[in-house]
Amino acid sequence: MKYVSTRGEAPELNFQEVLLTGLARDGGLYLPQSWPLITDYEISTMAGKSYQEIAFRVMAPFVCPEIPEADFKELIDKAYSSFRHDAIAPLTQLDSNEWMLELYHGPTLAFKDVALQLLGHLFDYVLKKRGEKVTIVGATSGDTGSAAIDCVQGSERADIFMLHPKGRVSDVQRRQMTTVIEDNVHNIAIDGDFDDCQAMVKALFNDLEFRDKINLSAVNSINWARVMAQVVYYFTSAVALGAPERRVSYSVPTGNFGDVYAGYIAKEMGLPIEKLIVATNINDILTRTLTGGEYKVGVTIATISPSMDIQVSSNFERLLYNIYDGSAADVRNLMESLKQQGEFTIGDGQLERAKSTFKALRVSEDETKETIKDVYNSTGHAIDPHTAVGINAARKNWNDKSIPMISLSTAHPAKFPEAVKEMTGQHPALPAHMADLFEREEKFDILPNDLDALKKYILDNL
Ligand SMILES: *Cc1c(COP(=O)(O)O)cnc(C)c1O
Repeated sequence: MKYVSTRGEAPELNFQEVLLTGLARDGGLYLPQSWPLITDYEISTMAGKSYQEIAFRVMAPFVCPEIPEADFKELIDKAYSSFRHDAIAPLTQLDSNEWMLELYHGPTLAFKDVALQLLGHLFDYVLKKRGEKVTIVGATSGDTGSAAIDCVQGSERADIFMLHPKGRVSDVQRRQMTTVIEDNVHNIAIDGDFDDCQAMVKALFNDLEFRDKINLSAVNSINWARVMAQVVYYFTSAVALGAPERRVSYSVPTGNFGDVYAGYIAKEMGLPIEKLIVATNINDILTRTLTGGEYKVGVTIATISPSMDIQVSSNFERLLYNIYDGSAADVRNLMESLKQQGEFTIGDGQLERAKSTFKALRVSEDETKETIKDVYNSTGHAIDPHTAVGINAARKNWNDKSIPMISLSTAHPAKFPEAVKEMTGQHPALPAHMADLFEREEKFDILPNDLDALKKYILDNL
């Protein structure tokens, strides 16, 4: 498979190059040249297969034979052996025809492990083969950081520098990152919000000289391989509920548009998905964009679902490329307008195309809390605030009850215990492997929101 940049001015790359590159050299994001199709017959043969088997079938067209099939199968098996549930992503029923897809059984308790555990093994495999080392720099609103650190800690081939907004991630989230004390792990608290952190990482990538000097790489959701790994659980869950004969809908709590975009890819590959609900908290840039067509950056507000406190949604650029029929010139114009004026407007026809698949909703803080309470009272399940945003949006927008509704449960409730305790009266316990998290020592540095200070820090610490 060949990969192209959404902005059309970077070289075409193969899978392994895209994996290591992250952001394209023209500032765009990489996408496969075309979507591989999976027929209804093939989807029907997935019934009863394991997560790992379906993962291989769904991802192989993007990866093999560039990576030999047998090797790729082995990497998949290794990646998911770290999960605490044999089904990897089990479905839990909430009500008649209403389901929750539990994506938080990986080592750091959020759905990001599903992609990042695989990414860690892919990185090691490819770097070893090429005899190379990389410097991974990332920004996190909370969960990417711990998942990325977990997947490369102790690696001889990668150093990782992880930026988080100081004081804006939960204690559990921060400690999951800062208590990893391996020499190749560097945690940095930035005096700013998540968008500031993300902007600095993007700026490092756009400084081509610095980028080459440290062999910079990314594991943020701009990395194609992460989006790819997330396509898998749309297939496993739809098949479990009767696809291809039965259509399904999903509700996805959304920040950077990576997870829900993976659902769009599943649909393009042939999975019968009715609707993808884009559930945002009060940081609602995506709801505003997908309703009125205007992508306009606002001020980020801290919420009880901090992993979605985002106003610049990086992966949205990939959807733009698709709804503009692969016209990189149009994407460049929109991105230039974003840079110059802080906004752009999607064309009417393109917006209609997006709306035929996506329905976006904004969920308030009160609604999020009420949903935690409702689900607990009616099922006994404690859910985290991100999951609650998704379930609230799903219930508000579920028009045809004969179509199963699957809400993605993106984090374990113990990751965000305050809101869960407040609404259920129960303090959600951390799983055994993390029970001593609050006794472990922390290691991190604080830096101003300043690019030169960050560059110096990276060079000093490599
Ligand atoms: C990252 C994250 C999200 C948002 O996912 P995107 O791919 O950025 O849209 C939602 N919930 C949780 C718990 C997360 O960690």
